[in-house]
Amino acid sequence: MKQPLNFSACLRKYLVVLRFKNEFRVSKKSTDSRARTGQIKTARGVIETPIFMPVGTLGTVKALSPEELTACGARIILGNTYHLYLRPGCEVIDLFGGLHRFMHWDGPILTDSGGFQVFSLAKLSKITETGYTFQSHVDGSRHTLTPEKSIEVQLSLDSDIMMCLDQCIQYPASREEAEAALELTTRWAERCFDFWKGNRRPQNNLFGIVQGGMFPDLRERSAQQLTALDFPGFAIGGLSVGEPIDLMREMADFTLPLLPDGKPTYVMGVGTPEDLVELVALGADMFDCVMPTRNARNGQLFTASGTLNIANARFRTDTGPIEADCTCYTCRHYSRAYLRHLYKTRELLAYRLNTLHNIHYYLNLMAAIRSAIDHDAFADFRRAFYSRRNISIGAGHP
Ligand SMILES: [Zn+2]
Repeated sequence: MKQPLNFSACLRKYLVVLRFKNEFRVSKKSTDSRARTGQIKTARGVIETPIFMPVGTLGTVKALSPEELTACGARIILGNTYHLYLRPGCEVIDLFGGLHRFMHWDGPILTDSGGFQVFSLAKLSKITETGYTFQSHVDGSRHTLTPEKSIEVQLSLDSDIMMCLDQCIQYPASREEAEAALELTTRWAERCFDFWKGNRRPQNNLFGIVQGGMFPDLRERSAQQLTALDFPGFAIGGLSVGEPIDLMREMADFTLPLLPDGKPTYVMGVGTPEDLVELVALGADMFDCVMPTRNARNGQLFTASGTLNIANARFRTDTGPIEADCTCYTCRHYSRAYLRHLYKTRELLAYRLNTLHNIHYYLNLMAAIRSAIDHDAFADFRRAFYSRRNISIGAGHP
């Protein structure tokens, strides 16, 4: 009896896999900009784009439970390969069959390659053709992160969207540095692609990352080399690394049209609410940034009219919510005076309530952007967005 039952279970699973197909579909294109809405279909849910992805570095979006994230409208979150590889380690996550069950989040997860953290956090020993050799920032232990190892760890996390290992460079970087890094990034992307093809499960997608520093011709070469490989999506890396805001947007403006129209595009590590509006106008579909969560823990709260610092003395007797028309849990129940009190006394609830509002603000902004594009009213939305923030269209940080 046992054999037929197992066979039947296997057959069912096989049929589910056969029926399942990751895909990206553009729903609507704006007539007055490159803004577009679309859907990324993954095994763990459909992601409406343009989308903001809250950052869950260590297997948690700091201060929030998965239920709270869902209530805020989060549909996909980030996990961090470098951090999770070091702590708790793949052998722990493997016991749960991946990061989803380990952290109790059943929606899609995007994981980065670990390269950026090796570059920015670890005591880096060297970069060779093989990969990164580094010492852990936690305990000084030595590790080698190769393109294959990065994909292997991301497969262990069972990530829905995995990222290729790339070589990050500092800003400013010379043309020679940028060129060498982009060529190595391409060779690593080919190795990531081959390893992914040979070891993936149907739910695991892999995105290529365009590098090339602040040099348009190098960005173009990187895009040409990477789009020769049939990745399910493409990211632009190496932006928001300290360059002037206008240069970041100029590079995104130049690079985004070089990527295939039928694939999702992801601008990594960006940015402010203004950046999101401007990059959507340039055709970007996906974003992540630590700003809403990190700033919340520092008492910086986003509103339609700008950012407020809840520690400010003028909020001591303010009985109103952070933002009058905000529908988040925090604004529905708590005053600025109470939030200031929690923050000033370093009460733990401050971090949760502030983060809830900021994540809600970012996700609500993206929902409003999608709705405007769907109604072909993105230009009107953009004008209204800037007029409420009291700054001119296309301006940078207020
Ligand atoms: Zn709120």
